[in-house]
Amino acid sequence: VFNFSAGPAALPVSVLQEIQDELLCYPGAGASVMELSHRGKVFIQIMEEAEASIRSLFGISDDYAVLLLQGGAALQFSMIPCNLLRDSGKSASYLLTGAWGKKAIGEAKKEGTVDTIYSAADTGFDRVPKAGDYTVKDDSAYLYYCSNETIEGVQFQSEPECPTSVPLISDASSDFLSRPLDIDKYGLIYACAQKNAGPAGVTVVVIRRDLLEMGSDKLPGYLNYKNHADNDSMWNTPPTFPIYVLGKVAKWLSSDIGGLAAMEKLNHEKSNLLYQVIDKYPEFYLGHAQVDCRSKMNATFNLPSSGLLEAFVSEAGKNNLQNLKGHRSVGGIRASVYNAMPLEGAQALASFMDDFAAKNG
Ligand code: PLP
Repeated sequence: VFNFSAGPAALPVSVLQEIQDELLCYPGAGASVMELSHRGKVFIQIMEEAEASIRSLFGISDDYAVLLLQGGAALQFSMIPCNLLRDSGKSASYLLTGAWGKKAIGEAKKEGTVDTIYSAADTGFDRVPKAGDYTVKDDSAYLYYCSNETIEGVQFQSEPECPTSVPLISDASSDFLSRPLDIDKYGLIYACAQKNAGPAGVTVVVIRRDLLEMGSDKLPGYLNYKNHADNDSMWNTPPTFPIYVLGKVAKWLSSDIGGLAAMEKLNHEKSNLLYQVIDKYPEFYLGHAQVDCRSKMNATFNLPSSGLLEAFVSEAGKNNLQNLKGHRSVGGIRASVYNAMPLEGAQALASFMDDFAAKNG
């Protein structure tokens, strides 16, 4: 079946096959990768290779630490303000473009002063700001945004404007590894793995090294980025199996796909197929996001009635197109076409949508 789940999401079939082949006995180790000591030579190499592959895909310089953490993206909602806001004597600026940004703001408020300098709440989170829609104070602790709001399906097409004196921070959970990025523009960028990068359980945090010094020694140890950077993400036992899979996905991206620019092109092609059908039947498929803010990862739309919505989901399921129901908070349909969704999956859904609209529209 084609799995359009928003996460945990599909993984590349060739990666799953490799994992299956190695599951009982990792080559040369005499044991499953899940049974290896994180401090042993074999696992350290797996971890170093995973980090190296991510660095090489984005071209990340040594000015940045790449941390492989637990706690999901949600822990970053707190770790960021714990390290960079709590003791800074400053306020932090947030761009609010959807449900995940809202949660992040809620957590940040527990640690310090938050300025929500832009909000798309009034229009139901259907857009991201344009240049001039907000102002960032030069002395903000940081500017935070969510590059792809997974629930509403709105995506920043490029980084928001930010003064050079202010670290730019992005929750890239649902579009990480889907396109090239200039990491030098960021103070910190992070993503949970379970959309484009691997199974749930590991979160990648890329942080500029000067920011590692900002967390207080009084923070609980796990929450201080510096502890993880100083110990190569082995301050405690890292999530070994998810890291192993993350490394395989990163290698698949470079060797099978041809890197992030090639991945972006493919992702563009897949999402375009869906948006073309939505635009062909504008009275039938009611797209949620403004056209220039549409996500290439999660296409969100509604149908004219709840009866048609149910029929769509049920008939799609019979055609092996699964997990298309929108998030319970917004309803409608959400089709997630992350990296591992093959072009044929998007083609099959687009063709189903075309038929369904022609029959029922
Ligand atoms: N941020 C975004 C953009 C997400 O899509 C999600 C999960 O879907 C999260 C944060 C929360 O991730 P986690 O469940 O790993 O904490």
